[in-house]
Amino acid sequence: MSGAIQSDRDIDYALNRITYFSNQHARPAYFCAACASEDFQQLGVTYWRRSHQLPGMYSCLTHQEGLHYVLTKNAFLQAPPATLEDCYAVETNWTIEGSTNEYVQSFLHLSLSLPNAKYPVSLAKVRAVTSQRAEDLDIALFPEQADRHSLTDGILDRYPIEWLELLFPNISDKLPRGVRERINGMLRCSTSSSSIVAYLLGLCILYDNADDVIQALHQ
Ligand SMILES: [Zn+2]
Repeated sequence: MSGAIQSDRDIDYALNRITYFSNQHARPAYFCAACASEDFQQLGVTYWRRSHQLPGMYSCLTHQEGLHYVLTKNAFLQAPPATLEDCYAVETNWTIEGSTNEYVQSFLHLSLSLPNAKYPVSLAKVRAVTSQRAEDLDIALFPEQADRHSLTDGILDRYPIEWLELLFPNISDKLPRGVRERINGMLRCSTSSSSIVAYLLGLCILYDNADDVIQALHQ
């Protein structure tokens, strides 16, 4: 198991939230060939890693290799394949390039870290922290503030578009106003305005790195 996961219950809760609220497009079952090879040599059996199933995770942070995936129904009922037959590979070039993007790195580390937090963070706290931070950075809180950059503009500018498209298909086309406002709404809405993924994307452009996000949320 990669990552310092506190309990299966914590990570299952986080994964369910992320899956339910964000990734309505079911992800295939992902694995890292190098991790599987090491598992097989050291343990005689291969394991799925929960970290590899997180939205936006397309390369192994341990081995810096693109993940492979299988599309078999109920793939998780069996161990990851020890060979790469009948598997598909994530495109390596852009995967590695995309994963080295500093904002993608923050996003992935935040995805892995939040389930380890001792206490959950309330939406009111997230809104208070992000709205103040956005104000400090002169980012628009409301649609009427057209003279300021929006949070969505920042997301589109900073993350690799190929990577974003896997989270939000067709995002490189004109992003529907409704989607744009749901993302921007995380800065002002008292109820969840968008998906967990959108919140993670936004938080990672408001702060320099995942540690700063976690510190701000838990102050
Ligand atoms: Zn690996």
